[in-house]
Amino acid sequence: MGSPRSVDASTNADLHCHSRVSDGTLTPEELAQRAKANGVELWALTDHDEVAGQQRAMEAALAQGMAYLTGVEISVSFAGRVVHIVGLGFDHHNAALIQGLRETRGGREARAREMAAGLAQVGIKDAYEGALQFVGNPELISRTHFARFLVEAGHCQDVNEVFRRFLTEGKPGYVEHRWARLSDALRWIRQAGGEAVIAHPARYAFSPTEEYALITEFMAHGGRGIEVVTGSHSAAEAIKYADTALEFDLFASRGSDFHSPEESRTDLGRLDGLSGRLKPVWQALADRIHWA
Ligand code: AMP
Ligand code: MN
Ligand code: MN
Ligand code: MN
Repeated sequence: MGSPRSVDASTNADLHCHSRVSDGTLTPEELAQRAKANGVELWALTDHDEVAGQQRAMEAALAQGMAYLTGVEISVSFAGRVVHIVGLGFDHHNAALIQGLRETRGGREARAREMAAGLAQVGIKDAYEGALQFVGNPELISRTHFARFLVEAGHCQDVNEVFRRFLTEGKPGYVEHRWARLSDALRWIRQAGGEAVIAHPARYAFSPTEEYALITEFMAHGGRGIEVVTGSHSAAEAIKYADTALEFDLFASRGSDFHSPEESRTDLGRLDGLSGRLKPVWQALADRIHWA
């Protein structure tokens, strides 16, 4: 018996999570297994700025009997802030997408060395070397890897405390960085045949005016989706962004943003369903789903 080749609003879709290819702690295969065990029917791995895990994730998903959409989470600089754009259902061999992501990753090494210099000034030594021990992909050293090192070295109790004390704006390990342009991220995703989704919109602390600018500029560049139910939103935030999706006629997405069994509050597939008022983004992507 094969899996049904259709999706609907009640499909357990988890379209946002991370593997060791970026800042998660599990391999794509371990994630696929965990997603399946948690009841996920349609899955996407969305590593930061990198598609190198896509082939493995797709093969593992199909072997587990789950349907699969390709995924990526692109770091974008917009209005002086960092915004994350999730791409779904693209051709992961697309040369322009791969090159754009390579450029987006390019500054991470120098940024990490600067972060370590900032941390050294407050007495935390060898943080670059320490963070590297946690890195699965040498092109993708992230703040998360520094956070894991600082916890292991006993500077903080958990990664949240590290971010609060050391890795957010104004703190000693924070370094300003220029990520991709919104227009470029949208072009890479769309020219590779995918759809773009604004990730965890409640996380940006934008004013209503700034948020309106983000959504309208995103849509002007062909963006059609927004995350509503995510491990990064409270229940109240999910309601707020359901209204936003309806107001702007955007497709709604759902994803845990799972990084690690030890660190993530929301496990793969263990999220509320989308409100029946919404159009699930996986219905817009039905013809790009890889079926088991
Ligand atoms: P980077 O791309 O290097 O700036 O790292 C960003 C990543 O750090 C995000 O994708 C999250 O995984 C993680 N992160 C950001 N803020 C926090 C926080 N307050 N607590 C825990 N993890 C966080
Ligand atoms: Mn992350
Ligand atoms: Mn994100
Ligand atoms: Mn994420």
